[in-house]
Amino acid sequence: MANLSRRDFLKLGGATLLSLSAGRFAPLGDEPNFTAPLIWNGTRKFKRIAFTYDDCYLLNKMQALETLLDEYPEFKVTFFPVGVKLISLEQQDPGIWKRLVDKGHEIGYHTFDHVNIGVMSPAGALMDYDKWNSTLTDVLGKEYPVRFIRPPYDIVSYTLDVLCQERGLVAAMFSVGGGGEPDIVFRAIQKAQGGDIVQMHIRTQDYNSSVLAYPWLKENNWELVTLTKMYDDYLREKINPVGCDVDTGSSLTRTCVE
Ligand SMILES: [Zn+2]
Repeated sequence: MANLSRRDFLKLGGATLLSLSAGRFAPLGDEPNFTAPLIWNGTRKFKRIAFTYDDCYLLNKMQALETLLDEYPEFKVTFFPVGVKLISLEQQDPGIWKRLVDKGHEIGYHTFDHVNIGVMSPAGALMDYDKWNSTLTDVLGKEYPVRFIRPPYDIVSYTLDVLCQERGLVAAMFSVGGGGEPDIVFRAIQKAQGGDIVQMHIRTQDYNSSVLAYPWLKENNWELVTLTKMYDDYLREKINPVGCDVDTGSSLTRTCVE
């Protein structure tokens, strides 16, 4: 988002979040000591949903999804490609990543080779992230403000926590899973709440689920937003739920949602 500076983001993503009530940021279940920002969903206040597409292995499904998204120019989504596919898809379809970013979609980190971050050392994970990030810079032709990690196999780990802290990243989990028969996934999406994060992958079934879901989402006045937008809403709700401050510049603590 243009109005969210990298500095604001890091400031809010780090210290401020740690001072908030931990409940909704705490990972469910096994990792009570996770200290970096981690989200399973966004605020429930708005009829907004974040579709995320992991891995990005298949060029033809990426291209098909891009064509589908072009029919819904107000819909924005988040991709979590692995580094090897940043390279190979760029070779097969030069400019594909820049096109998606220019259209307002978001890109987050999913490791270079789809490795469980939990089995990496913290130093190894930092190296992997930096390699992935410099690859992203290469394919986009410019630095890009990466904000989110989707850990492969959805494994929350100590190394993930360190990586998030060291690189100022938010671990983005999900509240609705794709990956099944399209009619079943479509029914799950029809029951979604505002603030849900949907995990899809770039594969045939999830593309077909998207084809089913997008027209329904549009007809029912859903907004498809990037994770940055979802997280921005969340911070505004958490930092100042009582109302709108004035004279605080463009800081997120202003809490005036447009
Ligand atoms: Zn994956």
